[in-house]
Amino acid sequence: MSSLFKNYGRRPVHLVSGKGTIVTDETGKEYLDFTSGIAVLSLGHAHPAIVEAIQKQAEKLWHTSNLFESPEQEKLAATLEKDTHLAHAFFCNSGAEANEAAIKLARKHTQKHVIITFEKSFHGRTFGAMSATGQEKIRQGFGPLLETFKTIPFNDVAALEAVIDDEVAAIMLEVIQGEGGVNQISPELAQAITDICSEKGILLIVDEVQTGIGRTGTRYAYEQTVLKPDIMTLAKGLGGGFPIGAMLGTSALYETFGPGTHGTTFGGNPLAVSVAQTVLNHVFNPTFLTNVNEKSTYFKEKLAASLPNHTIVGSGLLLGIVCAEDVAPYVNLAEQAGLLLVSAGPNVIRLLPPLTVTNEEIDQAVAILANILNSN
Ligand SMILES: *Cc1c(COP(=O)(O)O)cnc(C)c1O
Repeated sequence: MSSLFKNYGRRPVHLVSGKGTIVTDETGKEYLDFTSGIAVLSLGHAHPAIVEAIQKQAEKLWHTSNLFESPEQEKLAATLEKDTHLAHAFFCNSGAEANEAAIKLARKHTQKHVIITFEKSFHGRTFGAMSATGQEKIRQGFGPLLETFKTIPFNDVAALEAVIDDEVAAIMLEVIQGEGGVNQISPELAQAITDICSEKGILLIVDEVQTGIGRTGTRYAYEQTVLKPDIMTLAKGLGGGFPIGAMLGTSALYETFGPGTHGTTFGGNPLAVSVAQTVLNHVFNPTFLTNVNEKSTYFKEKLAASLPNHTIVGSGLLLGIVCAEDVAPYVNLAEQAGLLLVSAGPNVIRLLPPLTVTNEEIDQAVAILANILNSN
Protein backbone atom coordinates (compact mmCIF):
# COMPACT_ATOMS: atom_id res chain seq x y z
CA MET A 1 0.00 0.00 0.00
CA SER A 2 1.18 3.52 -0.76
CA SER A 3 1.72 6.26 1.78
CA LEU A 4 -0.05 8.53 -0.70
CA PHE A 5 -3.71 8.83 -1.58
CA LYS A 6 -4.37 7.08 -4.84
CA ASN A 7 -6.14 10.03 -6.49
CA TYR A 8 -3.65 9.97 -9.37
CA GLY A 9 -3.35 7.08 -11.81
CA ARG A 10 0.43 7.16 -11.74
CA ARG A 11 2.51 5.43 -14.39
CA PRO A 12 5.34 3.21 -13.07
CA VAL A 13 8.16 5.49 -14.18
CA HIS A 14 10.43 7.31 -11.75
CA LEU A 15 11.93 10.33 -13.46
CA VAL A 16 15.06 11.69 -11.83
CA SER A 17 16.48 14.34 -14.18
CA GLY A 18 15.68 16.40 -17.24
CA LYS A 19 17.34 18.70 -19.77
CA GLY A 20 15.43 20.41 -22.55
CA THR A 21 12.93 17.92 -23.99
CA ILE A 22 14.73 14.85 -22.56
CA VAL A 23 13.97 13.28 -19.18
CA THR A 24 15.82 10.34 -17.61
CA ASP A 25 14.42 7.72 -15.26
CA GLU A 26 16.20 5.99 -12.38
CA THR A 27 17.40 3.15 -14.64
CA GLY A 28 19.05 5.64 -17.01
CA LYS A 29 16.43 5.25 -19.73
CA GLU A 30 15.80 8.47 -21.65
CA TYR A 31 12.43 9.74 -22.88
CA LEU A 32 11.27 12.57 -25.10
CA ASP A 33 8.94 14.52 -22.86
CA PHE A 34 5.98 15.51 -25.02
CA THR A 35 3.86 16.21 -21.93
CA SER A 36 5.97 19.13 -20.63
CA GLY A 37 4.56 18.30 -17.21
CA ILE A 38 1.10 18.97 -18.73
CA ALA A 39 1.87 22.15 -20.70
CA VAL A 40 4.00 23.61 -17.91
CA LEU A 41 7.65 23.47 -19.02
CA SER A 42 7.51 26.21 -21.66
CA LEU A 43 11.31 26.36 -21.92
CA GLY A 44 11.88 22.65 -21.28
CA HIS A 45 13.61 21.04 -18.33
CA ALA A 46 16.39 22.90 -16.51
CA HIS A 47 16.65 25.83 -18.93
CA PRO A 48 19.86 27.69 -17.94
CA ALA A 49 18.08 31.07 -17.71
CA ILE A 50 15.48 29.65 -15.31
CA VAL A 51 18.09 27.86 -13.22
CA GLU A 52 19.98 31.14 -12.96
CA ALA A 53 16.85 33.12 -12.06
CA ILE A 54 16.00 30.67 -9.27
CA GLN A 55 19.54 30.62 -7.90
CA LYS A 56 19.90 34.41 -7.93
CA GLN A 57 16.51 35.11 -6.37
CA ALA A 58 16.94 32.30 -3.81
CA GLU A 59 20.00 34.07 -2.47
CA LYS A 60 18.19 37.40 -2.35
CA LEU A 61 14.54 37.07 -1.22
CA TRP A 62 12.00 34.25 -1.57
CA HIS A 63 8.88 35.34 0.15
CA THR A 64 7.42 38.45 1.71
CA SER A 65 3.61 37.89 1.61
CA ASN A 66 1.43 40.53 0.00
CA LEU A 67 1.61 42.82 3.02
CA PHE A 68 4.21 44.86 1.14
CA GLU A 69 4.39 46.58 -2.22
CA SER A 70 5.93 44.68 -5.11
CA PRO A 71 7.52 46.45 -8.09
CA GLU A 72 8.42 42.96 -9.35
CA GLN A 73 4.74 41.93 -9.51
CA GLU A 74 3.97 45.29 -11.17
CA LYS A 75 6.58 44.60 -13.84
CA LEU A 76 5.36 41.04 -14.45
CA ALA A 77 1.77 42.29 -14.71
CA ALA A 78 2.80 45.02 -17.15
CA THR A 79 4.63 42.44 -19.29
CA LEU A 80 1.52 40.23 -19.39
CA GLU A 81 -0.76 43.19 -20.18
CA LYS A 82 1.45 44.87 -22.80
CA ASP A 83 -0.40 45.45 -26.09
CA THR A 84 -3.61 43.97 -24.66
CA HIS A 85 -6.78 45.65 -23.36
CA LEU A 86 -6.21 44.04 -19.93
CA ALA A 87 -5.01 46.42 -17.24
CA HIS A 88 -4.70 44.72 -13.84
CA ALA A 89 -3.41 41.42 -12.50
CA PHE A 90 -3.74 39.28 -9.39
CA PHE A 91 -1.11 36.59 -8.78
CA CYS A 92 -1.79 33.22 -7.21
CA ASN A 93 -0.32 29.71 -7.35
CA SER A 94 -2.35 27.54 -9.73
CA GLY A 95 -4.92 27.44 -12.49
CA ALA A 96 -7.78 26.53 -10.20
CA GLU A 97 -6.92 29.45 -7.93
CA ALA A 98 -6.80 31.84 -10.88
CA ASN A 99 -10.27 30.63 -11.93
CA GLU A 100 -11.61 30.98 -8.37
CA ALA A 101 -10.44 34.60 -8.43
CA ALA A 102 -12.13 35.09 -11.82
CA ILE A 103 -15.42 33.63 -10.58
CA LYS A 104 -15.36 35.78 -7.44
CA LEU A 105 -14.50 38.93 -9.40
CA ALA A 106 -17.26 38.33 -11.96
CA ARG A 107 -19.89 37.64 -9.31
CA LYS A 108 -18.93 40.61 -7.14
CA HIS A 109 -18.74 42.99 -10.08
CA THR A 110 -22.06 42.05 -11.67
CA GLN A 111 -23.86 41.16 -8.43
CA LYS A 112 -25.27 38.22 -10.40
CA HIS A 113 -24.29 34.62 -10.04
CA VAL A 114 -25.06 32.70 -13.24
CA ILE A 115 -21.98 31.79 -15.28
CA ILE A 116 -22.29 29.87 -18.55
CA THR A 117 -19.68 27.16 -19.14
CA PHE A 118 -19.27 24.45 -21.77
CA GLU A 119 -19.38 20.68 -21.93
CA LYS A 120 -15.95 18.99 -21.99
CA SER A 121 -14.37 22.09 -20.43
CA PHE A 122 -11.82 21.85 -17.63
CA HIS A 123 -11.29 24.63 -15.12
CA GLY A 124 -9.71 22.88 -12.13
CA ARG A 125 -10.50 20.83 -9.03
CA THR A 126 -11.51 23.31 -6.33
CA PHE A 127 -15.22 23.70 -5.63
CA GLY A 128 -15.84 26.68 -7.87
CA ALA A 129 -13.56 25.50 -10.67
CA MET A 130 -14.89 21.94 -10.43
CA SER A 131 -18.48 23.20 -10.56
CA ALA A 132 -17.53 25.17 -13.68
CA THR A 133 -16.01 22.09 -15.31
CA GLY A 134 -18.28 20.45 -17.88
CA GLN A 135 -17.21 16.85 -17.24
CA GLU A 136 -19.30 14.58 -15.05
CA LYS A 137 -16.37 12.27 -14.21
CA ILE A 138 -14.61 15.16 -12.46
CA ARG A 139 -17.64 16.25 -10.44
CA GLN A 140 -18.98 12.81 -9.52
CA GLY A 141 -19.47 12.18 -5.80
CA PHE A 142 -18.75 15.76 -4.69
CA GLY A 143 -22.21 17.29 -4.83
CA PRO A 144 -23.99 19.49 -4.13
CA LEU A 145 -21.91 21.75 -6.35
CA LEU A 146 -22.07 25.51 -6.79
CA GLU A 147 -25.36 26.49 -8.40
CA THR A 148 -23.60 29.26 -10.29
CA PHE A 149 -22.84 27.34 -13.46
CA LYS A 150 -25.04 26.44 -16.40
CA THR A 151 -23.17 24.10 -18.72
CA ILE A 152 -24.13 23.95 -22.40
CA PRO A 153 -22.71 22.11 -25.45
CA PHE A 154 -19.56 23.65 -26.95
CA ASN A 155 -19.72 25.29 -30.38
CA ASP A 156 -23.53 25.32 -30.35
CA VAL A 157 -24.64 28.91 -30.94
CA ALA A 158 -28.35 28.07 -30.59
CA ALA A 159 -27.74 26.49 -27.17
CA LEU A 160 -25.93 29.66 -26.08
CA GLU A 161 -28.68 31.98 -27.31
CA ALA A 162 -31.29 29.84 -25.54
CA VAL A 163 -29.59 30.13 -22.16
CA ILE A 164 -28.85 33.88 -22.14
CA ASP A 165 -31.07 36.01 -19.93
CA ASP A 166 -30.71 38.98 -17.58
CA GLU A 167 -29.42 36.78 -14.76
CA VAL A 168 -26.20 35.85 -16.56
CA ALA A 169 -23.06 37.38 -15.02
CA ALA A 170 -20.44 35.82 -17.29
CA ILE A 171 -19.49 33.28 -19.94
CA MET A 172 -16.40 31.22 -19.16
CA LEU A 173 -14.49 29.18 -21.74
CA GLU A 174 -11.26 27.76 -23.06
CA VAL A 175 -10.29 28.82 -26.59
CA ILE A 176 -9.00 25.27 -27.08
CA GLN A 177 -10.35 22.71 -24.60
CA GLY A 178 -7.09 21.06 -23.55
CA GLU A 179 -8.15 18.32 -21.15
CA GLY A 180 -11.46 17.73 -22.91
CA GLY A 181 -10.04 16.64 -26.28
CA VAL A 182 -8.16 19.57 -27.95
CA ASN A 183 -11.45 21.07 -29.15
CA GLN A 184 -11.09 24.52 -30.72
CA ILE A 185 -13.79 27.18 -30.41
CA SER A 186 -15.60 27.73 -33.73
CA PRO A 187 -15.47 31.21 -35.31
CA GLU A 188 -19.30 31.21 -35.14
CA LEU A 189 -19.39 30.67 -31.37
CA ALA A 190 -16.60 33.21 -30.82
CA GLN A 191 -18.57 35.80 -32.82
CA ALA A 192 -21.85 35.00 -31.05
CA ILE A 193 -20.19 35.34 -27.63
CA THR A 194 -18.58 38.62 -28.60
CA ASP A 195 -21.93 40.02 -29.78
CA ILE A 196 -23.91 38.77 -26.78
CA CYS A 197 -21.34 40.00 -24.23
CA SER A 198 -21.27 43.51 -25.69
CA GLU A 199 -25.07 43.74 -26.11
CA LYS A 200 -25.94 42.42 -22.65
CA GLY A 201 -22.97 43.62 -20.63
CA ILE A 202 -22.07 40.02 -19.80
CA LEU A 203 -18.46 39.45 -18.76
CA LEU A 204 -16.24 37.08 -20.74
CA ILE A 205 -13.82 34.93 -18.75
CA VAL A 206 -11.22 33.20 -20.92
CA ASP A 207 -9.35 30.38 -19.19
CA GLU A 208 -5.88 30.40 -20.79
CA VAL A 209 -4.34 28.25 -18.07
CA GLN A 210 -3.29 25.70 -20.72
CA THR A 211 -3.41 27.74 -23.95
CA GLY A 212 -1.63 30.88 -22.71
CA ILE A 213 2.04 31.93 -22.71
CA GLY A 214 2.88 31.01 -26.30
CA ARG A 215 1.51 27.46 -26.20
CA THR A 216 -0.72 27.98 -29.24
CA GLY A 217 1.74 30.13 -31.18
CA THR A 218 0.57 33.53 -29.92
CA ARG A 219 1.03 34.97 -26.42
CA TYR A 220 -2.59 34.11 -25.70
CA ALA A 221 -4.90 31.90 -27.75
CA TYR A 222 -7.73 34.47 -27.72
CA GLU A 223 -5.55 36.69 -29.95
CA GLN A 224 -6.30 34.25 -32.79
CA THR A 225 -10.06 34.86 -32.38
CA VAL A 226 -12.49 37.81 -32.16
CA LEU A 227 -12.83 37.20 -28.40
CA LYS A 228 -12.03 40.08 -26.06
CA PRO A 229 -11.92 38.72 -22.52
CA ASP A 230 -12.86 40.92 -19.59
CA ILE A 231 -11.02 38.42 -17.41
CA MET A 232 -8.24 36.01 -18.39
CA THR A 233 -6.65 33.31 -16.26
CA LEU A 234 -3.13 31.87 -16.58
CA ALA A 235 -0.97 29.31 -14.79
CA LYS A 236 0.72 26.18 -16.25
CA GLY A 237 3.27 27.62 -18.74
CA LEU A 238 3.65 30.95 -16.91
CA GLY A 239 6.19 29.65 -14.39
CA GLY A 240 7.94 27.24 -16.74
CA GLY A 241 7.72 24.64 -13.94
CA PHE A 242 7.62 26.92 -10.91
CA PRO A 243 4.07 27.20 -9.51
CA ILE A 244 2.42 30.54 -10.30
CA GLY A 245 -1.01 31.56 -11.57
CA ALA A 246 -2.52 34.87 -12.58
CA MET A 247 -5.86 36.49 -13.20
CA LEU A 248 -5.96 39.54 -15.44
CA GLY A 249 -8.87 41.92 -15.87
CA THR A 250 -9.89 45.14 -17.58
CA SER A 251 -9.79 48.56 -15.91
CA ALA A 252 -13.61 48.46 -15.57
CA LEU A 253 -13.16 45.76 -12.92
CA TYR A 254 -10.47 47.60 -10.95
CA GLU A 255 -12.65 48.96 -8.13
CA THR A 256 -14.40 45.61 -7.52
CA PHE A 257 -11.34 43.95 -6.01
CA GLY A 258 -10.67 46.52 -3.32
CA PRO A 259 -8.37 45.95 -0.30
CA GLY A 260 -9.29 42.82 1.64
CA THR A 261 -11.68 41.38 -0.96
CA HIS A 262 -9.42 38.54 -2.08
CA GLY A 263 -5.94 37.18 -1.46
CA THR A 264 -3.48 34.33 -1.02
CA THR A 265 -0.39 34.07 1.18
CA PHE A 266 2.05 32.67 -1.38
CA GLY A 267 0.67 34.43 -4.49
CA GLY A 268 3.24 36.30 -6.55
CA ASN A 269 6.14 35.65 -4.18
CA PRO A 270 9.49 37.05 -5.37
CA LEU A 271 10.86 33.63 -6.38
CA ALA A 272 7.84 32.72 -8.54
CA VAL A 273 7.70 36.20 -10.05
CA SER A 274 11.37 36.23 -10.98
CA VAL A 275 11.01 32.86 -12.73
CA ALA A 276 7.84 33.91 -14.57
CA GLN A 277 9.50 37.16 -15.69
CA THR A 278 12.36 35.07 -17.12
CA VAL A 279 9.88 32.82 -18.96
CA LEU A 280 8.13 35.84 -20.48
CA ASN A 281 11.42 37.49 -21.47
CA HIS A 282 11.96 34.44 -23.69
CA VAL A 283 8.47 33.44 -24.83
CA PHE A 284 7.07 36.92 -25.57
CA ASN A 285 9.99 37.64 -27.88
CA PRO A 286 8.46 37.78 -31.41
CA THR A 287 11.28 35.61 -32.80
CA PHE A 288 10.52 32.94 -30.20
CA LEU A 289 6.82 32.94 -31.14
CA THR A 290 7.68 32.79 -34.85
CA ASN A 291 9.78 29.74 -34.03
CA VAL A 292 6.89 28.11 -32.17
CA ASN A 293 4.69 28.61 -35.23
CA GLU A 294 7.34 27.22 -37.58
CA LYS A 295 7.76 24.14 -35.39
CA SER A 296 3.99 23.75 -35.20
CA THR A 297 3.69 23.79 -38.99
CA TYR A 298 6.56 21.33 -39.29
CA PHE A 299 5.03 19.04 -36.65
CA LYS A 300 1.55 19.12 -38.25
CA GLU A 301 2.93 18.40 -41.72
CA LYS A 302 5.02 15.49 -40.44
CA LEU A 303 2.06 14.06 -38.54
CA ALA A 304 -0.28 14.39 -41.52
CA ALA A 305 2.26 12.68 -43.79
CA SER A 306 3.06 9.88 -41.34
CA LEU A 307 -0.46 9.26 -40.02
CA PRO A 308 -2.67 9.40 -43.13
CA ASN A 309 -5.59 7.73 -41.31
CA HIS A 310 -5.76 10.20 -38.42
CA THR A 311 -7.02 13.74 -37.99
CA ILE A 312 -4.65 16.25 -36.39
CA VAL A 313 -6.25 19.02 -34.34
CA GLY A 314 -5.07 21.97 -32.26
CA SER A 315 -2.86 24.98 -32.69
CA GLY A 316 0.77 25.88 -32.00
CA LEU A 317 2.32 23.21 -29.81
CA LEU A 318 -0.99 22.10 -28.31
CA LEU A 319 -1.85 19.42 -30.84
CA GLY A 320 -4.01 16.33 -30.77
CA ILE A 321 -4.21 13.09 -32.74
CA VAL A 322 -7.85 12.01 -32.93
CA CYS A 323 -8.28 8.24 -32.68
CA ALA A 324 -11.36 6.09 -33.04
CA GLU A 325 -10.59 4.16 -29.86
CA ASP A 326 -9.27 4.54 -26.31
CA VAL A 327 -5.72 5.91 -26.52
CA ALA A 328 -4.44 4.68 -23.13
CA PRO A 329 -2.70 1.62 -24.70
CA TYR A 330 -0.91 3.91 -27.19
CA VAL A 331 0.31 6.16 -24.41
CA ASN A 332 1.80 3.06 -22.72
CA LEU A 333 3.42 1.79 -25.93
CA ALA A 334 4.93 5.21 -26.61
CA GLU A 335 6.33 5.31 -23.08
CA GLN A 336 8.03 1.93 -23.64
CA ALA A 337 9.47 3.33 -26.88
CA GLY A 338 10.80 6.41 -25.06
CA LEU A 339 8.10 9.02 -25.75
CA LEU A 340 6.00 10.50 -22.93
CA LEU A 341 2.47 11.49 -23.91
CA VAL A 342 -0.77 12.47 -22.22
CA SER A 343 -4.31 11.91 -23.46
CA ALA A 344 -7.06 14.50 -23.86
CA GLY A 345 -10.41 12.88 -23.22
CA PRO A 346 -10.55 9.15 -24.01
CA ASN A 347 -9.81 9.31 -27.76
CA VAL A 348 -7.22 11.99 -28.33
CA ILE A 349 -3.44 11.80 -27.91
CA ARG A 350 -2.29 15.22 -26.76
CA LEU A 351 1.08 16.53 -27.92
CA LEU A 352 2.59 19.17 -25.65
CA PRO A 353 6.34 19.36 -26.22
CA PRO A 354 8.33 22.17 -24.60
CA LEU A 355 8.13 25.30 -26.79
CA THR A 356 11.88 24.86 -27.24
CA VAL A 357 11.52 21.43 -28.89
CA THR A 358 13.76 20.87 -31.94
CA ASN A 359 12.73 19.57 -35.38
CA GLU A 360 14.92 16.49 -34.77
CA GLU A 361 12.99 15.72 -31.59
CA ILE A 362 9.73 16.18 -33.48
CA ASP A 363 11.01 13.72 -36.13
CA GLN A 364 11.83 11.16 -33.44
CA ALA A 365 8.43 11.54 -31.78
CA VAL A 366 6.55 11.24 -35.09
CA ALA A 367 8.49 8.08 -35.98
CA ILE A 368 7.46 6.47 -32.67
CA LEU A 369 3.84 7.59 -33.10
CA ALA A 370 3.68 6.29 -36.69
CA ASN A 371 5.12 2.98 -35.62
CA ILE A 372 2.47 2.56 -32.93
CA LEU A 373 -0.59 4.01 -34.65
CA ASN A 374 -0.08 2.57 -38.12
CA SER A 375 0.32 -0.97 -36.82
CA ASN A 376 -2.89 -0.82 -34.75
C1 LIG B 1 -4.85 22.58 -15.84
C2 LIG B 1 -5.97 23.50 -16.05
C3 LIG B 1 -6.62 24.14 -14.98
C4 LIG B 1 -6.27 23.85 -13.53
O1 LIG B 1 -5.00 24.24 -13.22
P1 LIG B 1 -4.31 23.72 -11.84
O2 LIG B 1 -3.02 24.47 -11.79
O3 LIG B 1 -4.15 22.24 -11.98
O4 LIG B 1 -5.24 24.07 -10.75
C5 LIG B 1 -7.62 25.06 -15.27
N1 LIG B 1 -7.97 25.31 -16.53
C6 LIG B 1 -7.39 24.72 -17.59
C7 LIG B 1 -7.81 25.08 -18.96
C8 LIG B 1 -6.38 23.78 -17.39
O5 LIG B 1 -5.82 23.16 -18.43
